Amino acid sequence: MSGSSDSSGTQAGSRWSPQNPDSRYGARVGLVIVDLQNDFADPAGSLSVAGGADILTVVNAEIERAREAGAAIFYTQDWHPAHTPHFAADGGIWPVHCVQETWGAQLHPGLAVRGPIVRKGANGEDGYSGFSMRDPAGGQAIATRLDADLAGAGATRIVVCGLATDYCVKATALDGVRLGYDTAVLLDAVRAVDLTPGDGERALDELAAAGVVLIGDRVRGR
Ligand SMILES: [Zn+2]
Repeated sequence: MSGSSDSSGTQAGSRWSPQNPDSRYGARVGLVIVDLQNDFADPAGSLSVAGGADILTVVNAEIERAREAGAAIFYTQDWHPAHTPHFAADGGIWPVHCVQETWGAQLHPGLAVRGPIVRKGANGEDGYSGFSMRDPAGGQAIATRLDADLAGAGATRIVVCGLATDYCVKATALDGVRLGYDTAVLLDAVRAVDLTPGDGERALDELAAAGVVLIGDRVRGR
């Protein structure tokens, strides 16, 4: 279960103000750091996101802020087998990336790891959202452990950051709303792939329309 009925801000004193860094985190908040892995964040990675490593300083500061306030902290990790329909070589659209036990799949060495890692795609699924994967054959959604782990930690609100804005960050935040979490995205701590120019901007529009709180200034390329 997630997103209890008192998370809507209707009860006195329960309104969440994630725009304010001092009230952003607490015991009912989970910080979800999406796919800050070498293949996405390192310029030498196979699916490198422009400016991906630039967000590490901001992300690490958020992790520290969350930790001090008693928030739960989770990391997602794309964790593919060597062959999966997710990859262009096997009929999908992406270059080979984040293959299990390789350098590219490792979390970036500059990232402070202060909580559990939730892996996705380990059995060949498409795994954009930290919450759910898609069976490559049947297409059905398969839940990761993230929702259960957040609920177990008492979180009804999530703050999402990481890579990339227009894919895994977007999918994770939209799933967060769908599952009943009050959901915010940190614009200083995300970057877009922009496979088609403007994808990142459109992703932010989609998130805002779904009720996700966008924290910070909208700057092109995030
Ligand atoms: Zn992937």
